[in-house]
Amino acid sequence: MPEIRAKIAVLVLPALLVAGCSTAAAEWPTGVAGGSAGLSDPGSDPDTDPAQGGIPSGKDLTPFDTSYPAVGKLDPALLTAVQKAATDAKARGIEFKVTSGWRSKAYQQRLLEEGVQKYGSLEKARQFVNTPEKSTHVSGKAVDLGPTDADDWLIRHGDDYGLCQAYSNELWHFELLTTPGGTCPQPLPNAAG
Ligand SMILES: [Zn+2]
Repeated sequence: MPEIRAKIAVLVLPALLVAGCSTAAAEWPTGVAGGSAGLSDPGSDPDTDPAQGGIPSGKDLTPFDTSYPAVGKLDPALLTAVQKAATDAKARGIEFKVTSGWRSKAYQQRLLEEGVQKYGSLEKARQFVNTPEKSTHVSGKAVDLGPTDADDWLIRHGDDYGLCQAYSNELWHFELLTTPGGTCPQPLPNAAG
């Protein structure tokens, strides 16, 4: 399993988050029950700043949590497809969680820089993290979903909705790559492919 996934999971999984690094933006979202309140410096930590596409600690986002930019700023066609799939999956006892969706360029840049540190070179990091210019997360055309049973279900049934696994080394990363009922293209080996 690519290590970047573990890293992202550590960054977003509420159970593993250290409260001390929580920096939820003060003003976003509004009116969300149980939303993280707090005085913070928006943009100081893209991993948890909703305005950057981050997911606040303690939040499990579903594809219907559109008040969060990570979900709400997804391409409308992608969002609709994911919501339809999530509804059908739920009827079979499988719940979709959005682990990452839309990201600001700054957030993507940060992930790339972390990847370079982790893997030792830009070339290696690019197998797991795209540049802000190329990332389909920045354009809102990609969504990362979990948990694993949701990913498995969507890999098997996603083509009914036009949703396809884009990279073979990222079981959780889906994009709208065919028409509903069509055939998904073969996944690329990785984000650099
Ligand atoms: Zn992704």
